[in-house]
This record gives sequence, C-alpha cells and structure tokens, in this order.
Amino acid sequence: MIKANNPALKSWLEVPVDSDFPIQNLPFGIFKTDYLSPVAGVAIGKYVLDLVCLHEHGFFDGLGLPAGIFNQKYLNGFIGLGKKKTREVRERISELLQHDNEELRLNVARELAIIPMAEVEMCMPVTIPNYSDFYSSVEHATNVGTMFRDPKNALLPNWKHLPVAYHGRASSIVVSGTSIHRPKGQTKLPDAELPVFGPSKKLDFELELAFITCKETPLGSSISTKDVDDHIFGFVLFNDWSARDIQTWEYVPLGPFLSKNFGSTISPWIVTMDALEPFRVAGPKQETPVLPYLVSEGQNNFNIALEVQLQPENEEASTVCRSNYKFLYWNVNQQLAHHTVNGCNIQVGDLYASGTISGSTPDSFGSLLELTWNGQRPLALANGQQRKFIEDGDTIILRGFAEKDHVRIGFGECKGKILPAL
Ligand code: CA
Repeated sequence: MIKANNPALKSWLEVPVDSDFPIQNLPFGIFKTDYLSPVAGVAIGKYVLDLVCLHEHGFFDGLGLPAGIFNQKYLNGFIGLGKKKTREVRERISELLQHDNEELRLNVARELAIIPMAEVEMCMPVTIPNYSDFYSSVEHATNVGTMFRDPKNALLPNWKHLPVAYHGRASSIVVSGTSIHRPKGQTKLPDAELPVFGPSKKLDFELELAFITCKETPLGSSISTKDVDDHIFGFVLFNDWSARDIQTWEYVPLGPFLSKNFGSTISPWIVTMDALEPFRVAGPKQETPVLPYLVSEGQNNFNIALEVQLQPENEEASTVCRSNYKFLYWNVNQQLAHHTVNGCNIQVGDLYASGTISGSTPDSFGSLLELTWNGQRPLALANGQQRKFIEDGDTIILRGFAEKDHVRIGFGECKGKILPAL
C-alpha cells in the first residue's frame, strides 16, 4: 500500500479543486527562478516545493539520501536511487504536507521552501540518454495503414505479435514552452518526377505518453514483464512533432528520420508510476496469442484521459482531440520486456514513448493526419478558421489526467508553438 495515494488525504496548503497537483500526486521536476539555478522540486496545488531547501533543513533526515541529491540540473541521480528510495521520499513529502502535520507548516523554512508556481520556470526534468518510440495504438496503426497502404491489410503481419518501435533522437527532446521552428526537408508529390526542398507543408503533432526508466541494466540482460514496474519511475506527456510530407518520401525502408527528429516536447512534471497505481485498468483483449516473453499478468494499462488543443496565434484554443491512454493495445510491461529481450541495456533517464494514442471514434484520433484524414477533412476551429495541418504561430497543448474518488492526478501542460522555418 502506498500511503501517499490515500484519497482521504488533505493538505494544509490550499489546492484548488480542479488542480492537476493534489497531495496524492506529488510529481517531480526541475525548476529555476530569478535567484535559484535549476534544482529539484515537487508540484503541489499552485506551488513548487524546493527539495534542496527541505533537504538542507533536515526534513529528509533518516532517509539516507546522498548530500546534494536535489541540487542538480537533472533528476537522473535522484530517480537512479531506485523505486524503494524515491517512494520513501514521496511518502515523506506527503507526510509533511498533510493537514495535521506541523513540521513544515510551523517551520521558518516554510517561506523559503514553498514557491508560487507563477515564479518558477520549468526545465528538462532529466537528461535523456536514449529515446525509443513505440507504435502501440491499434487504432492509430490501422488508420495510418489504411491511408498509406491498403485498407484491407492495414496492419502489417508483425503488428499483433510484437510492440513495434523505432529508435528516436534524444538530443532534440525539449521541455514544454519551447518553440519549434517548422522543419525543412525533401518532399515529393505522388505525381512529381523529382523531390523538392522546402519547409514542411504537413506539420503535425502526435499525442503520446512516455515513461522514464530509473534502473540501469547490463548489456545482455533482459527485463521480464513481471519486473518492469521496478524500472519505471514515472510518465510525462509527449508530443512527437511530425512532418508528414517529409515522412511519406523518406520512410521506406528504414522508417522516419528527419520527419521526426527536429523536435519532440515533454511536459515538465514526471508523474510517478506510484501516483498512477490507483488508476490501473486492463488493456484491450489481445485475441492473437503472444509469445511467452510478452505475456503480462494483471492490470497494466492506466485510465488517463488525454486531450489536445490547437491555439492559433492570439486566438482562443480549440480542443481537437480527446483520447485515453487505456486504449493502447500494448502495455508498458510488454514494451520494456520486448525492448530488452535481445539483451539491449537500459539507462537511467531513458524515455520510451507510447506512439500516437488514438481511440476508435474520429474525435479521439491523436494526430491531425488522422483527424483530417491526411488533409481531406479540414477541422473547424473555434475562431472560424480551418486546419488541415499546423500553421506558423499555432500552439499545440497536450493535457492529461487520471480521476477517481474525487482525486485528480494530472500532468499539467505539454505545450509548444510553431515558428516559421528558419
Ligand atoms: Ca510517434
């Protein structure tokens, strides 16, 4: 039992009812202020707890944490302490914030340790050694296969036997709030003889969630589906920006390259797998039998509502997609077991994205490619404009939250604006 998840808990710090960050969440991130260089923090309501300050004032005494563990640019050192230790820290923070606890509430450190969210700038929470992108939504894979290949054989023969993935680019993953320039590249229209070079005309988002690993494994070893939970610290929202016209021309035979590696955006707060435990659900039934190493027992999907908003420059935002993480065909246990079954080693801070999360209804498709069916059915926006793909000045905002027993575990925002090509 994780005590910090108790739905009955209340904090002495005021938390708005619709907040993504109640006392049951306590996500970890890296923040800076005008007077603080990047340090580790935890979100609670409209505030950020400065973990360096709490550590220095002795609030974590007895937990055996290394000196300076929170006074770092990235959380890799902290999450690398392992699930048992990071769970103890989250439980302790929960204790300090509970309504009947006076340790922090009546301590002089309180003023220093609690910073209004409006005064902080969020940074990349981890440095990411490796990034892989799965393709785990059967609806997304079916839509893409129908559009680009053959509606009768939309899924390739391997799809229900293994969680398809490719290795992505870690260097261009940025934190929410970072603007992205429209990528340039080669494209070729179907009836054109030769490719041309220029800014992408079919820039898209992909609604994804990604998990971050917290335990190094040696080369040659594998992680079984039943051990995966020990290896996942938490989740972030993930927008895998994609240039569809560049992708169409380049992707055969080795898959996407420049159509994806110009930027991907993550939300800044890592929602722990611990905080998501109460929201476990069974995934879709896998009628096609899987090989023994992919068998996963128990409830390994999570009920997390997801949405995407498109906001034209200086205009109101329109919600263009509502989906749910629970729709994914392949779960994280199967993903990580498959990733390592050949002996591939895992590093602390690695990021593993789900692939675009589409549902079965047209309003739940997780990309503009699917929502507009490759531009054939433009979307009507709240301001009267239409969109086939993303235009310069548009901001894309991903949100997600799990909710049960009046507890809402949210991810905050994953936001990025598209600037004209350089
Ligand atoms: Ca993707």
